[in-house]
Amino acid sequence: MNKESSAVMSKHAFAVYKIVTQSNGAKIIEVPTVNWKHSLSEFHKYIDHTTRVCFVANPNNPTGTYNSHEEFELMMNELPKSILVILDLAYCEYVEKDDYVDLNILLSKFPNLLVTKTFSKIQGLASLRIGYGLASKELIGSLNKIRQPFNSNSLAQEAACLAIADKEHITKSIKLNAEQRELVFKRLSDMGMECIPSQGNFISFRGPFDADELFINLMKEGVIVRPIGLYDMPEFIRVTIGTKDENEYFLQKLSEILN
Ligand SMILES: *Cc1c(COP(=O)(O)O)cnc(C)c1O
Repeated sequence: MNKESSAVMSKHAFAVYKIVTQSNGAKIIEVPTVNWKHSLSEFHKYIDHTTRVCFVANPNNPTGTYNSHEEFELMMNELPKSILVILDLAYCEYVEKDDYVDLNILLSKFPNLLVTKTFSKIQGLASLRIGYGLASKELIGSLNKIRQPFNSNSLAQEAACLAIADKEHITKSIKLNAEQRELVFKRLSDMGMECIPSQGNFISFRGPFDADELFINLMKEGVIVRPIGLYDMPEFIRVTIGTKDENEYFLQKLSEILN
């Protein structure tokens, strides 16, 4: 990407896509969402001759919405092969949908697809700056040519290898998250909040509150949530799903503050 190019992404998509696009001097093209969800069927209408990259977070942070395999594959078929599509699977483990993306199919069909995966979420290695990419030989070959020799450190690599093999932790986290996500969603909805259905490990919701004020008030009680005005969702708060006790504490404090 450079000053002459553009990147296409959904509105309310993960903020880093905008930051990297801008830092390369390229133009940001945003595709409107439908019910907060990426409208992948519209992406091909927004690209132009300057477009080099499309970014898709699935599920997306901070909306928690996801796109099905069919939606994603259709989009890939509608885009020219000269455009690099980055499919960001930061929260893929938390998805509980049968129609979610099938990487074997996608990677074998599309040489212009780059799938990225971080260890910052379910593996909990956020500060180690470690992740990986999956793509065609061709694309990986190109990346290898420009890759810096020491781009990730050996301690982070060692931790990532251990974390990826720790199936027990991953299974436990998925189960806890699925149960608690459903419970928190229901409890927030019962309190009159409007929650966006989430396939991630967080829920974004709005209600009869000022998001920035609520953020401060919850912080005073030791609960850190995230107002997401930066994502053009100024009425919303994003709360991460915690343990049962943490969620209870959050819900308790929330209802105290709002009553
Ligand atoms: C957290 C996150 C990442 C990656 O985070 P790093 O810590 O930089 O690896 C990527 N995409 C989304 C959507 C995320 O929420």
